[in-house]
Amino acid sequence: MFVVMTVGATEAEVLGVKSHILAEGMTPYDHMGAERTVIAVVGEVGPHKEVLAGRLAALPGVETVTPISRPFKLTSREFHPEDTVIRVMDAVVGDGSLTMMAGPCSVESRDQLFETADAVKDAGATILRGGAFKPRTSPYAFQGLGVEALRYLAEARDRTGLPVITEVMEPSQVDIVAEYADILQIGTRNMQNYSLLRDVGRVARPVMLKRGYGATVEEWLMAAEYIVSSGNPNVILCERGIRTFETYTRNTLDLAAVPLLHHLTHLPVIVDPSHATGKRWLVKPLAIGGVAVGADGVMVEVHPSPEDALSDAEQQLTPDGFRDLMATLVPVHQHVRGLHGDPVIGAAGLGLGNGGLAKH
Ligand code: PEP
Ligand code: MN
Repeated sequence: MFVVMTVGATEAEVLGVKSHILAEGMTPYDHMGAERTVIAVVGEVGPHKEVLAGRLAALPGVETVTPISRPFKLTSREFHPEDTVIRVMDAVVGDGSLTMMAGPCSVESRDQLFETADAVKDAGATILRGGAFKPRTSPYAFQGLGVEALRYLAEARDRTGLPVITEVMEPSQVDIVAEYADILQIGTRNMQNYSLLRDVGRVARPVMLKRGYGATVEEWLMAAEYIVSSGNPNVILCERGIRTFETYTRNTLDLAAVPLLHHLTHLPVIVDPSHATGKRWLVKPLAIGGVAVGADGVMVEVHPSPEDALSDAEQQLTPDGFRDLMATLVPVHQHVRGLHGDPVIGAAGLGLGNGGLAKH
């Protein structure tokens, strides 16, 4: 449930509600809406839910107490109707602009990264990607350059001015990755690694949470809830394809998840057509599809010489391919923004049915 304070509620009244929630053994999370404070009550309420709601409703400064129908609370649109907008250096994610994350699957050398970084920056990328710690299906495959790659990424950020995103695979890597990178990525294989989710929830860096290849949308949002409830509200979701019976493509890109997520959550949504398809020539059509259904951005892999890549050789674009993709996507994005309105897909237009939020 969440408590909606009156417009003129004082700080003391907000504190009063929060301490009452704590005294009941629950955790309060407040969020400043457009004109009033909203406080989520999170924890295991048990059978006393209605009693607690009644007590909270009677406190000074409280306007209403509304249940949150979804199992994910802090990430739900019911609690937080406005889109979450994430700023990292000059990049803004979730404000209606087109976020373009591009770079190699793996950082292989300083030269390879710099060449790619210069090319994607020149073509209009807003965030540079590159894997330092690589989650590989085979233990014999290239595992990434590790900390050496993190240093190259930081140098590439200084060179291009682009913030960098890279994957963190385990709790012991969180501090070092957060020291060098601007955005931490949680890969598909780790979406339900709860100790890792909690740890990235405690750092002052945005986190991009990729969808587990076998995860439902609800499981994915519950994973995001781990990060947000640990203290980090800056979570980006990335649809990167799920495993189905289809074998021509590496995964199946679930495009319906994009408008569905905009309906269920306030967090920004990125699509990754590189890992979703595993095929270079399918990246562009699926990127167009992702932007058309309202994604806040696209992540693609780019390599100066894809056939020589140490990982994901078949799906990486050439720098020319990325330039061509940008030239196509920018007008698609402009056109689609007009169609969806601004913000891209607001909860109101989707019949969220959250009557309790009408006051916001
Ligand atoms: C990646 O983006 O480098 C990656 C390994 O992706 P995923 O976790 O989606 O497979
Ligand atoms: Mn890859």
